[in-house]
Amino acid sequence: MMNLAVLLEESARKYPTKDAFIFMDKHLTFAQVNGAANQIANALNTMGIHKGDRVALSCLNLPYFPMVYFGILKAGAIVVPLSVLLKHDEVEYHLKNSGAKAYFCFEGTKELPMAKEGFEGFQNATSCEHFFVITPQMSDSSPFEGIKTLGMLMATRSPIYSTMVTDADDTALIIYTSGTTGKPKGAELTHSNLLLNAMLSVKILSLENSDTQLIVLPLFHIFAMTVLMNAGLYAGATSILLPRFEGNQVLSLMEKHQVSIFAGVPTMYWGLLNAEGDGVNLENIAKNLKTCVSGGAALPVNVLENFEAKFNVPIFEGYGMSEGSPVVTFNQKEFGKKPGSVGVPVWGVEVKIVDSEGKELPVGEKGELIYRGHNVMKGYYNNPKATAETIKDGWLYSGDVAVKDEDGFFFIVDRTKEMIIRKGLNVYPREIEEVMMKHEAVSMVAVIGVPSDESGEEIKACVVLNKGFEMTEDELKSWTKEHIASYKYPRIIEFMHALPMSATGKILKKELK
Ligand code: ATP
Ligand code: MG
Repeated sequence: MMNLAVLLEESARKYPTKDAFIFMDKHLTFAQVNGAANQIANALNTMGIHKGDRVALSCLNLPYFPMVYFGILKAGAIVVPLSVLLKHDEVEYHLKNSGAKAYFCFEGTKELPMAKEGFEGFQNATSCEHFFVITPQMSDSSPFEGIKTLGMLMATRSPIYSTMVTDADDTALIIYTSGTTGKPKGAELTHSNLLLNAMLSVKILSLENSDTQLIVLPLFHIFAMTVLMNAGLYAGATSILLPRFEGNQVLSLMEKHQVSIFAGVPTMYWGLLNAEGDGVNLENIAKNLKTCVSGGAALPVNVLENFEAKFNVPIFEGYGMSEGSPVVTFNQKEFGKKPGSVGVPVWGVEVKIVDSEGKELPVGEKGELIYRGHNVMKGYYNNPKATAETIKDGWLYSGDVAVKDEDGFFFIVDRTKEMIIRKGLNVYPREIEEVMMKHEAVSMVAVIGVPSDESGEEIKACVVLNKGFEMTEDELKSWTKEHIASYKYPRIIEFMHALPMSATGKILKKELK
């Protein structure tokens, strides 16, 4: 019997006056966050929201996110985080799909406009009885006629609450996958899934209460939610919140707050390497940075190496997914780390590489990565068909192709869905991307398959060049041809100014296609 809210409650008891979250010049202590969550839980119960009810939350990286998140959990209800970038019909889809009874949505401001459309999504979702707007200032009046604010909801509520007892296997969260390959699916995660994953993250990051971490990865995504927010609360660390990634701003906050822990997706590491860093002292940043973590997509080896050299800090790459709470494997201090690898399985999780019949493959052979253990979701919410296709005999089929080496380290080859079949031969885009990234002129690259009458599929590379470099498509094509087997080099190259990216900072290949 346990409720995930214990993460916050224990630290509120141990470190009541310590800063849990800092946003701009606002500081919130562990006790304040806990008290606010209690007020919200009290209000939710009064509204008739109880154990098992779903409550949606769409909020940027602001202290309101953890307050509402833990308020919902304390009431025994299920949190349904929604991306702040969803358009109104997508919001409607998620509210209906999850059967949310209430919806908290950040209003959006001139500086942070992202959540505006969330309102209209609510209008159309009939299942959702209650709507609260989260305004930047916690006022007890509403800027929108007939719509209540979070501030109004909390006013007059008691900051004392006795958290609902939940079972370890009760659902705590329905989290939608990033939608990188298709329509997002709602992964149903339990209190114990999330608690164990947060505790393991603390261990992997060697997180301590003296640490300060920067959270710029969106909290509505499982990576930041577990590995940063929940782990940080458990450890009693302080979290600096930043709603939107901008390289220079991240660097200046790192310096200002003496940040020791940073986690990002690969495009963020790329962004930090390319940031001008005017007015910041890199030595000061490097002095305090202790651990960096990358996940969510493949970190190109040269980005890893350049970053580690520039900031004098190790990046530990891990592999995970919404369905796995998220952490599955990690490079961990105690086992050593290998560039390009996603490390070894975390404690209590078994990982295998299998062929299309589900038979385990030997070391060095490519196949689908499957895993089982305490991190595996219950299933996709309200979608038994997709669940049955994904979880078989307790093993979760990741849809990722990977390979294990003789030391037990895993390397992600690519997603099964991204594999290109050219003239009957299998080609994995990531391998080509790694090669092309080594060219000094190439800043970022995404390789995709495009339909072709002659080859079935043809290999195309979408390339962003580094500032100050010029080259022709043919020049880059011939260079690549010299560095990779001839059936794999890109026959088509297109130069672009930028690549399309998701809210979580993943390159959206489906849009390139
Ligand atoms: P959807 O399932 O909706 O298409 P998604 O798979 O991107 O979206 P997430 O759960 O956010 O949704 O991401 C998990 C996926 O991210 C993994 O299945 C894997 O493809 C990729 N991934 C995560 N970490 C790594 C990594 N270190 N290296 C390579 N790929 C990674
Ligand atoms: Mg996925």
